Amino acid sequence: MSSDLPERLTYGEWTRALKEGRLLGQACGACANVLGTPKGACPHCGTRDLETVELPTSGEVYTETTVMVPPEGVEERGYQVAVVQVGEARVMGRVDGNGGEVHVDIGDSVELTGYIKGEGDDPAPLFRPAD
Ligand SMILES: [Zn+2]
Repeated sequence: MSSDLPERLTYGEWTRALKEGRLLGQACGACANVLGTPKGACPHCGTRDLETVELPTSGEVYTETTVMVPPEGVEERGYQVAVVQVGEARVMGRVDGNGGEVHVDIGDSVELTGYIKGEGDDPAPLFRPAD
C-alpha cells in the first residue's frame, strides 16, 4: 500500500480523503473482510488488525432505498441512498440527482462524484450513474 495512507484510519482521515475524491477502507488482517468506513475492530472477527486501503471510486449498486422521511435536520425528501460495492468493500452514499430525476437500481454501475452534507455536518459520499 502507498505510504501516504494512515496506519490507523480515523473517521477524520476518511472524511478528508472523501473531500479529495478518494474512498478509504480497512482490510482485515485476520479474515478477508474489507470495511468501507473506519471501525475500531473488524465486525466479522473482532480483530483490531486493520490495514488502511484505497478503495475504487466506482462500483455497483448493492442495494438502494429512497428516503421519504429524512433524519432530523435534513430538509429534502425523496432522496435516494445506495449501498455501493466498491472492490471488496461496501460504502453507503447518496445518489446524485434528487427528487427522482436520477434513479439507480441494484446492479447499476455508479461512480463517486463528490460528497454531500449528510446528517449533522458529516459528509456522505455522493454517487452518480457511470457512463
Ligand atoms: Zn476480520
